Amino acid sequence: METAILFDQKIDIAKEWRTEALEGSSRSAIIQTLEKKYRIHSRKRSFSCQCCSQQVILVLREESPHFRHEGKRCPSADNYEKYIRRVNKQESIQIHRVGRAILRTYLEGQVKTHGVLLEDGYMYRSVLHIVPDYILVFPSGEKWAIDYVTGSREDESYNNYIQKRTAAYKAAGFTPYYFIDASWIAKVPNRSMISLYLAESQMKVHSSIDEDWSEFVNEFMETFGESFVFREMFGVNHFNHNDKSSSVVQKYKVFSLAYVDPTEGKTWIQRFTPSNNKFGYSIYCAAIPLEKAVSLSKEGDEFQWWADDESEAMRECLNRLSIKYQHNAKQNSELFQSQNHIDSQLMIAATSTKHTYEVKSALGSVVDPSSLIDIITNDMPVELAQEIIENLRVNKFRLSKQSIEEIRHKARLVMGPIRNPNPISPGLRQAMIELALL
Ligand SMILES: [Zn+2]
Repeated sequence: METAILFDQKIDIAKEWRTEALEGSSRSAIIQTLEKKYRIHSRKRSFSCQCCSQQVILVLREESPHFRHEGKRCPSADNYEKYIRRVNKQESIQIHRVGRAILRTYLEGQVKTHGVLLEDGYMYRSVLHIVPDYILVFPSGEKWAIDYVTGSREDESYNNYIQKRTAAYKAAGFTPYYFIDASWIAKVPNRSMISLYLAESQMKVHSSIDEDWSEFVNEFMETFGESFVFREMFGVNHFNHNDKSSSVVQKYKVFSLAYVDPTEGKTWIQRFTPSNNKFGYSIYCAAIPLEKAVSLSKEGDEFQWWADDESEAMRECLNRLSIKYQHNAKQNSELFQSQNHIDSQLMIAATSTKHTYEVKSALGSVVDPSSLIDIITNDMPVELAQEIIENLRVNKFRLSKQSIEEIRHKARLVMGPIRNPNPISPGLRQAMIELALL
């Protein structure tokens, strides 16, 4: 392994090698320096293994400076050999070595505030089938396997390997997290889509923010219709899956992948909903500092794989889509709109004051939003609808998920079916869209 104990010090020989190399020392100069510093202690059998406390010998080789067991091997020694063999075979060695070291510095700094320990994967006290770069050990006993992935990805065996690896980690009781080298990012030109290796499909996660985006995307699909969303959001025109059963919108699930550039300290969280194993529809790509990407959430149950302004991004996406939708709807029903506009103008004055009171009392008794649902109708004044939206935005956290769903449903009913919308004013339609996506 790369570390050993010298009385009370932990000596990381690979790290010392790297430090010397970064300062510009030649290979022979590095060996000379480290020989002078440590060889005598190695001869005196003063280095011991962190895992089994046996004496270990210093081996200075460029590819892998390390400490070797002389007598009986221990789990860490076995894990170390397996680990080095895996990295040499599967990863781009230079990139992986540098990136892994940087990742360690960032990770260690961030997770320790949660009382989480970072260990080299091979220092695990029992023999592992596949050895990760790092293992995070939580105070609760929970363990995460952390890998920096740089590998020979075009290779089909690499895909199988990632699959095996994920399964092996889970079998060992680890939650796997993959930090993928940024060179893997592949945006499809003229589309909001990404190309994926099979290996990437196997490394995707579904975080709490992905769950929020999933809900959002499904609301888009139900409110605007799938073909509209595919055209306006992803630039895909030929969306045409089972149009006969179009009343049943399929459920979309959003996933994310974390791409890192360790030397630049950057991360991109790419959110997408899979088209198939080879392509994903790009939902959002959050550029965040690496420091944040290796930080744990407040609850300590996931990495902070999100940007701070993502809820704003969701709103912007909604605004963009609803403006487009408005524009389309306008072309379809010019006549109805002008008529309806006059009607609603007349009604505002008559009903606004009375309804304001009802809205407030409906929101006051949060348990029963049914009176609110009764107010939302095809002939309600736009002003009142806007007032309801304002009120709901402030009070949304007080409503149950079911109540919100009922309100959204009512808004969709007022708008009517996507292919044959109800003749309501543009202002009210805009308001209903906002309600439907609340
Ligand atoms: Zn040992």
